[in-house]
Order: sequence, then C-alpha cells, then structure tokens
Amino acid sequence: MAVKDSTEWLEELKSQKPIMYVDGEKLEKPYEDPRILPYAKGHAGIRTELSSPLYREMGSIVTSPLINEEVNLFANIHEGPEQWINRTRIQRVINRRRLCVFRCLQEDTSNAYWAFTYELDQAHNTEYHKRFTEWVKHMQKTDNLCAGAIMDARGDRTKPPHEQPDAFVRVVEREKRGIVIRGSKTSVSMACAVNELFITPSPISGRYTPTAEDKDFAVACAVPVDSEGIVMIGKLPTKRERKTDLRMDYPFGRAGVGDPVFLTVFDNVFVPWERVFLCGEWDMLERGASLGIGTHFSAKGGCKAGLLDLMIGAAALAAEYNGLENTPHARQKLSILMSWAEEAYAAAIGAEVEGGKHSSGVWLPDIVKSSANKWLCSEHGGDDLDILLDLGGGLVTNAPEEMQWNSSEVRAYLDKYLVGKKDYSAIDRVRVMKLVEDMAASDMAGLFHQASVNTGGDLMAARSLVYSFFDLEDRKLTAKVVAGLAEKDNIGFTWHR
Ligand SMILES: Cc1cc2nc3c(=O)[nH]c(=O)nc-3n(C[C@H](O)[C@H](O)[C@H](O)COP(=O)(O)OP(=O)(O)OC[C@H]3O[C@@H](n4cnc5c(N)ncnc54)[C@H](O)[C@@H]3O)c2cc1C
Repeated sequence: MAVKDSTEWLEELKSQKPIMYVDGEKLEKPYEDPRILPYAKGHAGIRTELSSPLYREMGSIVTSPLINEEVNLFANIHEGPEQWINRTRIQRVINRRRLCVFRCLQEDTSNAYWAFTYELDQAHNTEYHKRFTEWVKHMQKTDNLCAGAIMDARGDRTKPPHEQPDAFVRVVEREKRGIVIRGSKTSVSMACAVNELFITPSPISGRYTPTAEDKDFAVACAVPVDSEGIVMIGKLPTKRERKTDLRMDYPFGRAGVGDPVFLTVFDNVFVPWERVFLCGEWDMLERGASLGIGTHFSAKGGCKAGLLDLMIGAAALAAEYNGLENTPHARQKLSILMSWAEEAYAAAIGAEVEGGKHSSGVWLPDIVKSSANKWLCSEHGGDDLDILLDLGGGLVTNAPEEMQWNSSEVRAYLDKYLVGKKDYSAIDRVRVMKLVEDMAASDMAGLFHQASVNTGGDLMAARSLVYSFFDLEDRKLTAKVVAGLAEKDNIGFTWHR
C-alpha cells in the first residue's frame, strides 16, 4: 500500500536538508524548529485524517491503475468526474476545520500536466509524457508531497520574460544529463513541509504573447526541496501563543493553521532530464499555463464552501448568543452566507461533471466553469466578513483578552456586564466573539481574504480564461439565426418566421 503513515512521513522529512530562512535566520534543523514543526505536523494531521474510515468512505483513498496500489486521492490521475467530485466534498469538510487541505495544487497541476505533456509529445514528437508518468508513479509510490511553484516574480507586469530574465524561472544551461534553471517563484505555500517542488510557468493569458525569444522560460520540472541551489525565504503566519489556560484569544488560527509561504529561489539548480516536462517549446507555453491554472480554479469552490461553512456556524452562534436568532435580518444574513457556500460548491461540482475526457485518458474539469467559479468565490469575499462582523457587534474586536478574564477582580465585572442572551454566560458569549474576530477581524482574517482573491491566480486570469475558452462563436451564431441574419445554428436550429 502506497499510503504512508504520518509518523513515518514526518520522520523521513527530517532527512531532508533544505536551505530555509525564517526571521532572517538560516534554520539548521528546519523540521525540528518550533516555527516550522507545527506546519509539518499540521500537514501530517491532514494525512492521518485522509486515511481514516470517515474520509475513506468519501473516496480519499483510491487504487491507482498506474501502480496498482492504494494511493491518496490527491495524488491520483483522475479518470472520471467522480474522483474530482469526491475531492471537492473532502475539501469542504477539511477546510471547514483546518482552513486548507494543502494538496489540491499538487492534484490539479499533476492532472493538467498529464494532459499537457501528452499534447506536447503530439505536437513536438518529444517524450515528456513518459517522463511525467514516471514522476507521477514515483510520487504515488513514495506518497511524497509537492508544493506548486508557479508564480514567477514577473517584474514589470506589462513586459514579456525575455525583456526581464531575472523575473522568470528560466533554463540557463542544457547539458547531456539535464538542465540548469535560475530564477524565483515568489509565493510557494507550505514549501516548508513538502518533499518536492513542481515548477511550472506562470499564467500568461491576457498578459503577453510568447515568442521564440521566450523559449528558455518555457520550462516545467520537479525537484527535491533540498536540491543544491534552492533557497527558501519564509513568511509565516503570525505566531499566536497561548497566554492562559482559558485559550480564548484566536481560537482558530493557532500555530500550524494558516499558510506559510516561501519566496523560493532557484540559483543554478540542476534538474535531470527524467524530471523535465517542458523545455523550450515556447509555442505551447500559453496552453500549458491555461490548462494548469484553469484546472486549479476548480478547487476554489470546495475550499470556499468549507470556509463559509465555518463562518456560517460562527455567525449563527453570534446571533444566538446575542439573542437575535429569530430576527428576520439575522436569518436573512445567514441565508445569504448559506447560499454563497452552496453556490461555490455547486459551481465547482458543475465544472467537474461538465468537464471531459482528454485524449491522454485524464478527466479534466471544464475550464470556463472552473474559472467562472474562481471569480464567484472571490466575489463575495469581504461581504461575508461584513455579515459576521455585523451579527457579532462591537464585542468582536472589543471584548477583553483572556489575560483579563484570569483576574478575579476584573472577571466579576466582565461576568456581569458582558452577558447577552440570559441562557449563556458572558465568557461563553465572548468565546464566540473571539472566533468571529479570528475569522473576520484578525491578521489571519486578512490573510484568508487575500487568499480568496489571489491564491491560484489573479481575478483577471480567471476572467481572461472564461473569455478565451467560452464558445462565443456558437452563441453569436444562434443570435444571428434568431435575428434573421443566418439560416441555421450549430445544432441545426432554424427560426421559423
Ligand atoms: C496566501 C497565498 C498563497 C499562495 N500560494 C501560492 C503557491 O502555493 N504557489 C504559487 O505559485 N503561487 C502562490 N500564490 C501566488 C498567487 O498565485 C499570486 O499572488 C496571484 O496569482 C497573483 O499574482 P501576483 O501576486 O504576481 O499579482 P499580479 O499578477 O501582479 O496582480 C496584481 C494586479 O495586476 C494586474 N495585472 C498583472 N499583469 C497585468 C497586465 N499585463 N495587464 C493588466 N493588469 C495586469 C492583475 O490583474 C492584478 O489586478 C499565493 C498567493 C497567496 C496570497
């Protein structure tokens, strides 16, 4: 069975020796460092959950035809919509509790590159698909994790790579055994708790048109995180220490929850040919980037629905502890949040169901619907936080911190004056408000709002993919038939006048 136990995986992680900087300090033993260890443990915790009976029943473990063994769903190459739907369901359940599953980027880019390397071989008579298949098998057999290193620094956003080489990862040498790459990817989530980096070009659609001069920037490959020349510079979520046994402040975003993001530098990193999946085919750059990002956008719905689920729970509790649960406006606000959660979830599943079987054998979600889903998931970001803050009231940010509740003199006042509905104690009401604060008015809330706007690609990329892949000519033709400008549309429809 190729599903690795968490303890074994954590132990193996320690044998890696990446160059990692946190707080301006080079970490000698990153996986034992208290600033990194919680994230590795968090990742391991998700691994344990995904192997549990509850998640197995939801389809978290599947048999991969590539190695004829059980593998984690997120490491699988999906052959039908069911596997995509299962991942969206699982994402929703996990993200509601842990904010992120931290595996969908690996899943989405691997599935997209399964198709893309196949297309590359058809167009260029290359052997990328065979190599990519071997890498997928290796990832499945080892049950290793990879982070997605996609977004280049990109410098001046209006200029193509060849005009600003340092702003994009590029090939600087081609050798007999492999290639040497240089550049950086600015925001690699969870790079501190994975085994490999999957490096692919940034989205291009709507930004620039690649030319032959950009050929060195057409590069995709996979490398172990401790390959020589890789330097990871971390931006960790704010550390939140427990101040008292009450554990009231920031109940959600404790150490280990949140997104540690790494500026990842590739300073002449050697990559053997077996791990190179695109090298120089500049004419296919845009296609690869669109498939990659378009597939990843389908992950947004399950993710957003999960986060909204927790917001709904917190908002409902806030209303209840304030005595508002039966008021029309509280019910209306909750139903708005509920509708947004279900819309996001349904849109993701719609994209997955209405995708199609690629000639390489993989099932890919529909790019137009996935990209529209990304937009939908960002559209209400901010408004959802408004609802939470509104139902909670000023106490959300103004309730005294837990240290104050530890003082018996202060506590007497707090117990008396911070009561809401009489069925609940003041301290329990404040616990609810502290959860609302963490989700809607803390540094963590800001990070997750930012994540809903920017993770997986910017909003313009989503709109641009909708425009590029939508069958506009088909819709124009039907409009022409109805207007009396054409005889028949694509399904033979004729307007009888
Ligand atoms: C929490 C978090 C986690 C992340 N995790 C990962 C990860 O794991 N892996 C990874 O690779 N990336 C990751 N990212 C990066 C993320 O994908 C990018 O931030 C996102 O794609 C936006 O790119 P950018 O930051 O370069 O902003 P930009 O692309 O610079 O966007 C800023 C603005 O400029 C506009 N713009 C850009 N170019 C043009 C143009 N030519 N013409 C007109 N307008 C333009 C955009 O539409 C946008 O309005 C993460 C980001 C966040 C916030």
